Amino acid sequence: MTLAERHMEPAVPAMLDPFGRSITYLRVSVTDRCDFRCTYCMAEDMAFLPKKDLLSLEELDRLCTVFVEKGVRKLRLTGGEPLVRKNIMHLVRQLSRHLRSGALEELTLTTNGSQLARYAGGLADAGVRRINVSIDTLDPDKFKAVTRWGDLAKVLAGVDAALAAGLKIKINAVALKGFNDHEIPDLMRWAHGRGMDLTVIETMPMGEIDADRTDQYLPLSVLRADLERRFKLTDIPFKTGGPARYVDVAETGGRLGFITPLTHNFCESCNRVRLTCTGTLYMCLGQDDAADLRAPLRASEGNELLSQAIDEAIGRKPKGHDFVIDRRTRKPAVARHMSVTGG
Ligand code: SAM
Ligand code: SF4
Repeated sequence: MTLAERHMEPAVPAMLDPFGRSITYLRVSVTDRCDFRCTYCMAEDMAFLPKKDLLSLEELDRLCTVFVEKGVRKLRLTGGEPLVRKNIMHLVRQLSRHLRSGALEELTLTTNGSQLARYAGGLADAGVRRINVSIDTLDPDKFKAVTRWGDLAKVLAGVDAALAAGLKIKINAVALKGFNDHEIPDLMRWAHGRGMDLTVIETMPMGEIDADRTDQYLPLSVLRADLERRFKLTDIPFKTGGPARYVDVAETGGRLGFITPLTHNFCESCNRVRLTCTGTLYMCLGQDDAADLRAPLRASEGNELLSQAIDEAIGRKPKGHDFVIDRRTRKPAVARHMSVTGG
């Protein structure tokens, strides 16, 4: 083994769940609040958690650090909108010490881009290399309609700032029937023309929203078949550590990802767990079982209790989710919104 290879070896063996899956990826929802109200994600009059219930940035750092010490190699900050959490850059800079030590391979975030123009430089300076930006349409009026409160021009300025700062960007778009299905080629040409990957996502039945999800749901198998009439798509083994399956698009020379929780279950390769801003650990996006890590975090200054609680939680990570969207099951599969656990 060369010195460089030895340097890449994880310092600690990863945590294993009951199905032998290595848990190396932690997503942290740093706030449940957001400056948008996307129609598929939130109701317009969302009730948010009282601020006093949130973990402090120091507590979030301590929790993440314990996960890194237990073998997590990739951390993604999400939300709600992670960049609206007060002093979020303090947490990013703190966590970046694990990048410098080599304990962490990647520190990244998923954002709606509204605050990116302000923060892109700071993120790059802290060692963030890639980010995901969610944009469902490039039409300013439709963007306003789907986000309710968003301003596309601001988001696009954020994307420009991030590219100028040297960040790699993946654009995420939720596929919404009758809303953006015909726009995916334009979105793809735009993203690929700027060297960005595009990933399309099926809507997941999480939390009560004002709309009917059966009206929004577009199976990506249908979208793919439609795209294949106009583009040459070739499956490729490219992986970013997430559940997307990628194709190369011959006409644009770019990559297109499909995240298909409903039409193709990706649970067998799941490597992740999700932490909320109140310290609740969800072992599966699509199940209600969760572990409270705030009590053991606050019970002692040492990390032993916390470490034990994490082991117990990973020991009951379920095999998979049971998402379905059809006209008989109108209720969401899980009551919490995506903004609680992050996407
Ligand atoms: N606010 C940030 C953003 O929008 O990127 C981060 C949090 S958001 C919950 C993360 C991702 O989840 C976004 O790409 C969003 O489009 C997606 N999302 C939200 N609700 C969803 C749902 N019910 N089904 C599928 N994707 C959803
Ligand atoms: Fe906010 Fe992201 Fe949910 Fe949209 S998808 S409401 S930006 S948390």
